[in-house]
Amino acid sequence: MTNRTQKYHEAALHRIPWATQTNAKRLKPEWPDMPPFIKHAKGCRIWDLDNREYIDYRCALGPIILGYQYKQVDDAVRAQMNKGVIFSMASPIELETADAVIKNVPWIEQIRFMKTGADACTACIRLARSYTGRDHILSSGYHGFHDWFAVNWSNAGVPAALKDYVHEVAYGDIAGVERIFAEHGNQLAAAIVEPYDWNEVVAMDYLRRLRELCDAHGTLLIFDEVLTGFRLARGGAQEYFGITPDLAAFAKAIANGYPLSAFAGKREYMQTLEKMIITLTHGGETLSLAACKATMEMMQNEPVHEHVFAMGKRLRDGFAEIIKETGIPAQASGVEPAPFIKFATGDEANDKKVKDRLFTRFFAKGIFANDRWFINYSHRESDIDETLDKIREACKEI
Ligand code: PMP
Repeated sequence: MTNRTQKYHEAALHRIPWATQTNAKRLKPEWPDMPPFIKHAKGCRIWDLDNREYIDYRCALGPIILGYQYKQVDDAVRAQMNKGVIFSMASPIELETADAVIKNVPWIEQIRFMKTGADACTACIRLARSYTGRDHILSSGYHGFHDWFAVNWSNAGVPAALKDYVHEVAYGDIAGVERIFAEHGNQLAAAIVEPYDWNEVVAMDYLRRLRELCDAHGTLLIFDEVLTGFRLARGGAQEYFGITPDLAAFAKAIANGYPLSAFAGKREYMQTLEKMIITLTHGGETLSLAACKATMEMMQNEPVHEHVFAMGKRLRDGFAEIIKETGIPAQASGVEPAPFIKFATGDEANDKKVKDRLFTRFFAKGIFANDRWFINYSHRESDIDETLDKIREACKEI
């Protein structure tokens, strides 16, 4: 990090706790070459405060599915800006965007727009509790910073009593799910799960068992598609796995980076909104809706996911080749939209050491690496090949 960037970071820390709004964007001491600030971005590339260029595989933690400053999306936003950002009543783009999303995710019957992933998950929970008249929740994965979920975080500022209502289980833990249903089945309003945790195991039996147990107990199955939606497939994890939830939360890739999320699902459950209130001033903010509509249309008109899968496979195959060639103790793993290098020294602490050394080299070489290497529609073959060349060099150096 240059002196200039370091000073900027110190000034930001003085004014802004963490120097960022997002936990995952805080600096990690073990990755000293990770740039704390990105000044601008275009396509699949980003530039830091010192004008250093990186090929980006973080995709802003998930939202960027088409590419940064994607022309069709930004043009749609500019056109909407000429009409106004938000109005005193609903705007027609709300229905147009709802229809565009549902065209990509056809199991959805009704949808409401929100702003963050946490909003959308919380709205699903509120609907499920209201619909069933029950309080308990089975939860798996991460669902945002809101009270109902953050019950086990340290110093969370959440009433301890809420802990009793949330029963957490690890991804794929069928026995854990069965135990929670056996103990609390008739009190469970919902099972909210990340349908995929982006590891090597795709837990179909787990999702099937969740669906069965929810049906048997009158519990709503909620898919948190905040990260899987529009990335794992056009229709998200529901399409990828062929298992349909009752409600789902979407965010991240829904609007290629504009701040929009949604909760959606079967009409029977969404209709609970006729008897309860979930409301927000900026839910109908039109610039993000215009971005969402354009993003959905891109996915309908162009082979976005075919391309993402092909580039992801190219990257993962390249990882495998380099690992073989250089003898780095690792395996190439992950699904095509998010491959990753699974370090396998046989010792977890050692894995972390190898990973930290390698990632530091990646940042120094202009590769913005990620735990899961997210692919977007702007990654071309040449970007993947340039990345692989640099990874090969880094592996040889360590
Ligand atoms: N659910 C999942 C699966 C997520 O990955 C995230 C964000 N990392 C959230 C919910 C929360 O979304 P947000 O940060 O937009 O509130």
